[in-house]
Amino acid sequence: MRSNVIEVRHLSKAFGTNVVLKDINFGVARGSVTTVIGASGSGKSTMLRCINLLEKATGGEILYDGENILEKGVNPAEYRSKVGMVFQSFNLFDNMTVLENCMIGMTKVLRIGKDEARKNAMYYLEKVGMAPYINAKPRQLSGGQKQRVAIARALAMEPDVLLFDEPTSALDPQMVGEVLQIMRMLAREGLTMIVVTHEMAFAREVSNHVIFMANGVIVEEGSPEDIFGNPKDSRTKEFLARVIER
Ligand code: ADP
Ligand code: MG
Repeated sequence: MRSNVIEVRHLSKAFGTNVVLKDINFGVARGSVTTVIGASGSGKSTMLRCINLLEKATGGEILYDGENILEKGVNPAEYRSKVGMVFQSFNLFDNMTVLENCMIGMTKVLRIGKDEARKNAMYYLEKVGMAPYINAKPRQLSGGQKQRVAIARALAMEPDVLLFDEPTSALDPQMVGEVLQIMRMLAREGLTMIVVTHEMAFAREVSNHVIFMANGVIVEEGSPEDIFGNPKDSRTKEFLARVIER
């Protein structure tokens, strides 16, 4: 059995002459939580977006289940049903209800019938505590509620891997907890996740593996004990000193 569900090899990305990712290499074990930390502008989002095929990598390979998804013949929508993404800004469809938001991927991409799609969507909306809001429109919800719907929508595709790009950064402080609590539950259940976050306590508590990025490279990676307890690189030490509240 292959242990790494995602393998990133020599990934690079440039926007014109601006090189934002340089020779990124890491693997993600099935059932693990990998968190990616680093200052704003270090390339974290670009890396996740490359893995989700929202940006076209300039070079390297991204293997999903052993297959390089950067090669021709990969259908992005189908691939994203396996490797889904949750965004900082939720990206819900404003003109659709909560329930419709959670059904559309199943009916359009997976071609699941409406009845089954509704049943699956309800299951995951219940899981994130949003079942009472199925007929609401996104504008009627708080940020925390919107993000819980976005997570239910992603889960309804029954993905293999979920990518999270700062899922709590757009939320008022009192709503951060409700989203992190759901992510903790998903981690406990063994969902494979790659999480870009500024929530250091969460990263330390939930991750199996932590990656610290700066200026488009992985500076240091290791267990949460290594990275938070015994960082080796001066850039890691400086970053952590800056972001961890004392
Ligand atoms: P992070 O998520 O760590 O804050 P990003 O991946 O968003 O970092 O950005 C890394 C760098 O790539 C930044 O310098 C940013 O300006 C640049 N960048 C990101 N997206 C684009 C884009 N679409 N076009 C040009 N430059 C971009
Ligand atoms: Mg970002």
